[in-house]
Amino acid sequence: MTMLDTFPPTRQAALERISAVRPGDYARSRNAIDGAVTGLSPYITHGLINLPEVLAGVNAKQSLDVQHKFVFELGWREYFRHVWAFRGVEIFESLRQGLLPQTSYSALLPADIRQAATGVPVIDMAVRTLYATGYLHNHARMWLASYIVHMRKVDWRVAADWLYGHLLDGDLASNHLSWQWVAGTGSSKPYLFNAENVARYAPSPWHSPGSVIDLSYEALDRLARQPMQRPRTEPDAPTEGAQIEPSLLAVPPLDLGWTAPDADAVAGREVWLVHPWNLGALPTFLPANTLVVGVLVTDFHRAWPWSERRWRFVASRMAELAALRWQGDAVALGAALQGATQVRSVDEPHLAPWLARLAVCEAAVALFPSVDRRCDSFSQWWTRASGGFSSTSDLLAARQAPGWPGQYACRELAG
Ligand SMILES: Cc1cc2nc3c(=O)[nH]c(=O)nc-3n(C[C@H](O)[C@H](O)[C@H](O)COP(=O)(O)OP(=O)(O)OC[C@H]3O[C@@H](n4cnc5c(N)ncnc54)[C@H](O)[C@@H]3O)c2cc1C
Repeated sequence: MTMLDTFPPTRQAALERISAVRPGDYARSRNAIDGAVTGLSPYITHGLINLPEVLAGVNAKQSLDVQHKFVFELGWREYFRHVWAFRGVEIFESLRQGLLPQTSYSALLPADIRQAATGVPVIDMAVRTLYATGYLHNHARMWLASYIVHMRKVDWRVAADWLYGHLLDGDLASNHLSWQWVAGTGSSKPYLFNAENVARYAPSPWHSPGSVIDLSYEALDRLARQPMQRPRTEPDAPTEGAQIEPSLLAVPPLDLGWTAPDADAVAGREVWLVHPWNLGALPTFLPANTLVVGVLVTDFHRAWPWSERRWRFVASRMAELAALRWQGDAVALGAALQGATQVRSVDEPHLAPWLARLAVCEAAVALFPSVDRRCDSFSQWWTRASGGFSSTSDLLAARQAPGWPGQYACRELAG
């Protein structure tokens, strides 16, 4: 077990990970599977901490150049959000044609991939790690995605949906747009990798000499551009070492304590809504006696099921914040909240079709200034978002200016 295999669903655990960030080591080793990556993504995705808090924690020890690799990687998360804001549901379809016509890719994710039984060690290790921890190193995500799309000719969208469900940090913008980047439908060229690359960046159990990826980049490129010659036969019975894929659940396990909405409980009260993406410290501006209500908008979860591990992660933190926790569709939640004096929350693109009908929302917290023109490449966006700042101290100071999105103080829970 490494430090990255456990994700206690607490703010304390997130803050400890922030204190452990070593930007110099990160820049040197982040491509290695056992490199100094932070494991912050489950906490960031669910809003237990936000990017300014991450950077402020790091900056408190050492101000970094804004062009530092660590800041740059935080930028990727906000860039993907930028693309989602401009493109909306278009991010779920190929943004441009990939190497082959869409019809050349299968709509089924083969069983041997799902069962970690492909016989290609790097792929089987990645799937096993995913199922065991809900987390995968970025390089492992890239290898897995590249193999699935380019070697096995599976439609990136089908595989992206599958990965999203199993990740603790599954984020529709970062996940689906990263798959497009690997597939070459969201970038100018596809991402390919070979056994030598794996041997350089992963520990020995991942090494895959003599497998289908043990080729030159020219040979891999030719393979990626070739339609699958004949349909691959699926193994009839699980091969040795095959993993059972954890179920993905559209509703949380019953013991987690979400109940049906109850109008009487909120009538005449000021309400602050906590949802699975704003599980951070509560804002200080909430009037005393504000009732904190946790909600699951089932309209979203019906379309995007989660692993039991993820449900438990969210439930545990939500229970710390909200004594009342409801699950229901947007209509039922809206009806129950009608009698409240005021309902407030934080904006969240995953809940965009529904949340505005339930609550008046604060803007989600952002680290970089918003770029109001659509950027189709990270570098275009990065120039605009990071230009004008030389250090992380400058960037964090600029965030204090009036009008910066999501600018409100939060307080830790007592005890
Ligand atoms: C196929 C594929 C699917 C992915 N799916 C997701 C996803 O569902 N959710 C998700 O948060 N990230 C996703 N990523 C991006 C990246 O792999 C993860 O953010 C990163 O591995 C999380 O681990 P960490 O917190 O240890 O990262 P670190 O390297 O320690 O980075 C710190 C933080 O910076 C941000 N970050 C770093 N690299 C990236 C990146 N390339 N893209 C976006 N943000 C980045 C994340 O918020 C991360 O927590 C995906 C990447 C690929 C290639």
